[in-house]
Amino acid sequence: MQGSCLCGQVAYEIDAFAAPIVHCHCLKCRKAHGSAFSTTAPVMREQFRWLRGEHLLKHFESSPGKRRHFCSHCGSHVMAEWVDKPGVIIRMGCLDDDPGEKPRLHIWRSEGAVWYDPAVQLPEWPEGRPRSSGKSTSGKSGKQ
Ligand SMILES: [Zn+2]
Ligand SMILES: [Zn+2]
Repeated sequence: MQGSCLCGQVAYEIDAFAAPIVHCHCLKCRKAHGSAFSTTAPVMREQFRWLRGEHLLKHFESSPGKRRHFCSHCGSHVMAEWVDKPGVIIRMGCLDDDPGEKPRLHIWRSEGAVWYDPAVQLPEWPEGRPRSSGKSTSGKSGKQ
C-alpha cells in the first residue's frame, strides 16, 4: 500500500499494519491535523519505506522522543514515530490505497473535542454541504 502528502512530493510504501486502525482524539493529534481526531495505524519499521521526497520532510517533536513528520511544502502530517520504538504510526488520511480493513477503536476520548461525539450519527452527503433552502436538511435523502 502507498501513501502520499497533499502536494504529492512525499510518498511512502508499507507492507502491513502491526495493529488495528484507530481514531485518536488526543489533543496533540487534533492540533497536528487541525481536525476532530486523527486516524492512525502502526507499521513496523522494516515494513515502511519512503518512496520519494524524504528531503522535504520536517518533524515536530510533540512529546519527548515523539516526532511528527510532515511535508514542508504542503503541510501534510504523513507519519509519526517514537524514536526508540520498533514501529512508526502512519496517518491514514494520507494513505492512497484501500487497506481492506476499517478503524476499530476510538482512543484518547478523554481529550476529545467537546463539539464532536462519535456516537452521534450525522446525515451524510456525497459532496459539499447542501444549499440552505430554509427547509429542514435532515431526513429524506440523508443516509442513516
Ligand atoms: Zn507535500
Ligand atoms: Zn493522538
